Amino acid sequence: MLRALLARLQQGHRTISFPHGEPSLPDRFRGLPVVDQAKCRDGCRACAEVCPTDAIAADEHGVRIDLGRCLFCTECRDACPDGAMQYTAEYRLAQRTRDDLVLTGETLKRAQALGAESRRLFGRSLKLRQVSAGGCNGCESDVNVLNTVVFDLGRFGIQFVASPRHADGLLITGPVTENMQLALHKTYDAVPSPKLVIAVGACAISGGPYRDHVEVHNGADSVVPVDLYVPGCPPHPLTILDGLLRLLGRIT
Ligand code: SF4
Repeated sequence: MLRALLARLQQGHRTISFPHGEPSLPDRFRGLPVVDQAKCRDGCRACAEVCPTDAIAADEHGVRIDLGRCLFCTECRDACPDGAMQYTAEYRLAQRTRDDLVLTGETLKRAQALGAESRRLFGRSLKLRQVSAGGCNGCESDVNVLNTVVFDLGRFGIQFVASPRHADGLLITGPVTENMQLALHKTYDAVPSPKLVIAVGACAISGGPYRDHVEVHNGADSVVPVDLYVPGCPPHPLTILDGLLRLLGRIT
C-alpha cells in the first residue's frame, strides 16, 4: 500500500495545461493540410486524383480541400511532384458549418461560440450522450482518451452520460449506417430541448471512407441538425477538446 502511494506521488501532475499554453504534439501529428498554389504547375491534378475520398478538387480556380472528407492520409502530399502540399501542426480544425470546412486557400476560421443563452445553459456543465453510428471505433477511441487523466474532460464540466434523457446533446461518430439511422433519430428525440449535436470524424461529417455506400447515410447532418463539425480520421483528442471549448465560449 505504501509503495503504491509513493509511486502515485512520484507520478506527479499528469493533466496537460490546455487550453493554457501551446500543447505538445507528436512529430508524426498531421494537422491542417495546406497547399502552396504558387508551386503548382499548370493543369496538375495529382493530389486530386490520388485522394481516396475526393476531398480535393483541382481546376483552373486552384486547389480546394474539403476537411470534412479529408482522412489526413498524406497520399496527396506524397503524390505532389512539386512539394506544394504539406500537413501542418494546426490542430484547431472544428467548424460550426459544413461550408466552413471547405478551404480554397483562405485561412481556416476558428469555430464560433454558441449564442449567449446557449452558453448560459451549457457553458459550465455539458452532458453528452455518445452515439456510435457505424464507424470503425477510431473516433470513439479518441473520444474515450478525453476522459483520461491527461485531458481530464470533466474539469471543464463536460461529461458523457448513459441516457439521452440525462444529456444536453449528442456526440456522433460514424457515417450513420442504415441500421443506425432509426436509433440515432430516437436518441436525438429523447434528448430534452434545447440540445446540441457534435459530429466527430470524417465519417460523421461526410461518410468518410464509406461515403456513398448503399448502407450509409453520408454523415450525421443527413439525419439530425449539427452544431459543431470536428474533422479528422480520427480527430486528435485536442482537436475535439478545442472544438468543444470554442463552442461553449470557453476559449476564443
Ligand atoms: S472518421 Fe475514420 S477513425 Fe472515425 S470512424 Fe470513420 S474511419 Fe474510423
